[in-house]
Amino acid sequence: MAVNITKYYSGEDANPSIYRGRMTLKKGYTIVDADESCYLFLGVNSALPFTALVHPEDVDSIREALELVKEGEQHLIFRLVCKDDSYRYMYARMKQSGKKLEEFETIDVELLDIMRIYDKFDANHIRMIKYRRLMSLSDKMYFEYSYQDDSITIYEYVNNRSIIHFSSRLELLQAKVLEEDRYSFRQRAELEALCEHLKNYSENFDMEVDSELFGLSAGYLHFQGGILHRYNTKWMMVATVTAMGDAAKEEKYYTTTHAFDSATGVYNKRAIHELTIDLMANAGELPVYFCIIDIDDFKSLNDTFGHMAGDEVIVSLTEVLKNVIGARGYIGRFGGDEFVLVTDQIATDEEFINALKTVRKDVAWMNAARLKNTEVTVSVGIAKYPQDAGDYDSLFKLADKCLYLAKAKGKNRYIIYCEEVHKNFDMAAISGKLSSENTQDIYVGTGRAVAAILGDMRNGSSEELKESIRNLLASYGVDRAAVYAGEDYDLKFYVGNGTAPMESLAYIKQPYLAEFFDEDGMFMRNKILSIRENAPQFYELLERQGTEGFMIVKAQFAGSLPVAVVFDVFQRYRKWSMVEKSMLYIAAQIIARRYLELEAPAES
Ligand code: GH3
Ligand code: MG
Repeated sequence: MAVNITKYYSGEDANPSIYRGRMTLKKGYTIVDADESCYLFLGVNSALPFTALVHPEDVDSIREALELVKEGEQHLIFRLVCKDDSYRYMYARMKQSGKKLEEFETIDVELLDIMRIYDKFDANHIRMIKYRRLMSLSDKMYFEYSYQDDSITIYEYVNNRSIIHFSSRLELLQAKVLEEDRYSFRQRAELEALCEHLKNYSENFDMEVDSELFGLSAGYLHFQGGILHRYNTKWMMVATVTAMGDAAKEEKYYTTTHAFDSATGVYNKRAIHELTIDLMANAGELPVYFCIIDIDDFKSLNDTFGHMAGDEVIVSLTEVLKNVIGARGYIGRFGGDEFVLVTDQIATDEEFINALKTVRKDVAWMNAARLKNTEVTVSVGIAKYPQDAGDYDSLFKLADKCLYLAKAKGKNRYIIYCEEVHKNFDMAAISGKLSSENTQDIYVGTGRAVAAILGDMRNGSSEELKESIRNLLASYGVDRAAVYAGEDYDLKFYVGNGTAPMESLAYIKQPYLAEFFDEDGMFMRNKILSIRENAPQFYELLERQGTEGFMIVKAQFAGSLPVAVVFDVFQRYRKWSMVEKSMLYIAAQIIARRYLELEAPAES
């Protein structure tokens, strides 16, 4: 009998194939049961005994194998007839099914069409190449977790090959992360969450995990995937992995529409924070000035004129800041009545202070009509990078500290951080917003610092005395101190800035001026305007040199020349608190005494 054994399944073959099938044989090797693909393949032939379906040349080996099934599973390749009488090469696996029928141990036969498998392999192979190519084109990584062996793998495809970035048993990774100190609490919690996800067989696997857990430095990894089943059991969790690290950083927050305060249109706190860090990172020759501005007594302003008026004051301040600073810097609102100004375009303290002076003048002016008899003033704290601080947090703290000192000293002023003056101030005493209850503490804090300066004044050379005075001026926001001595109160020396002081203070001996001195020998005014009527000549002298506020202290020690110490504040209103007055008075007395000890010892 001629048999065409080369005729087997090809792509065009319209015959149903038995790519994969199963049948059970009973006594006489006839089919008692088969699956759909077997029946389709065999057609009417399925009524014949199995041995009749096999190519005549293979019948002996099939019989032999069927006999041997009682001893164990049998494997062989043979030719099976199809319903159109052509033959196919089959791979068969035969074993006892464990079910008896008519005293016969039935036999299960699993069939695989070898040529179909070959074709299938070919098709799968080309598919695999296609998927590898696609995976290589993607910049994603891939994640697999196998439920069989508890293994995690993170890999990517490059040039059609996988490159494994991480591979470990999950259990080992958990132990390692728990054991080693370098993992943070947050990272540990993330790994726990990942385990939970995997162990709960989440159908929708979508989470973000720090890549450091896998020894990678790609920022956060975004896993998106799901579970795969095999033979009806959970087989694998698979996911694509997107590295969030750089993608998240690329768009600066302050360039987004979320970066602005809705009421005023200036940057919000987070935007200013990030912007300042960037300015610091890119700073060139010029410093980065960081300046916090807080409206004075804003609460009472609200109370007196209403919340709406308060809102208008806030808007007016931002308008003024925008106008004055313009393209030179950035303005932000920290919330409430607190604003920030940061700039890397201003070269000197002088230029910066000039801008601030304009701000203060303009804010007062803009609100003058609206708020009758109430001047809107602000207090300002300033620190600069890199001179004062090397990082944002420290820079912020210094500016904040200066702001609180400005408030403590009576508001309506700016304080630029100066290390030698401000570093010793006891900030513990200045925690939180100032209130009348803790103002006391602040005076104790500043008082302690001033006591240190005064202590230094009692010894040391005249140069050291001048240095101490300089510190005193800085911590009290005084612009200049001048020392006069002798019967005609001749100028002996001065410390600070502004124009040169008057050569002589002799006119304080004139009766009309002497009246202004109190019994301790002190004469002081916050605003020179208050003496224009009663002391017009003296007023003119002061105005000419730019003095706005001053304090004169006469000191007379037995057997010594008379001395006068003058403190000046130029071109700004500065309210002197009781404590400040006392402190400056004591300082003046010490300065006078030390001057005499150094330069004009008393004749005995
Ligand atoms: P200080 O001189 O010490 O700064 O005193 P202050 O009264 O200004 O005190 P503080 O800065 O703590 O108070 C801010 C107040 O501003 C608190 C709140 O009632 C009010 N405020 C905050 N935000 C707004 C706002 O948007 N509009 C108005 N009108 N008031 C606000
Ligand atoms: Mg305020």
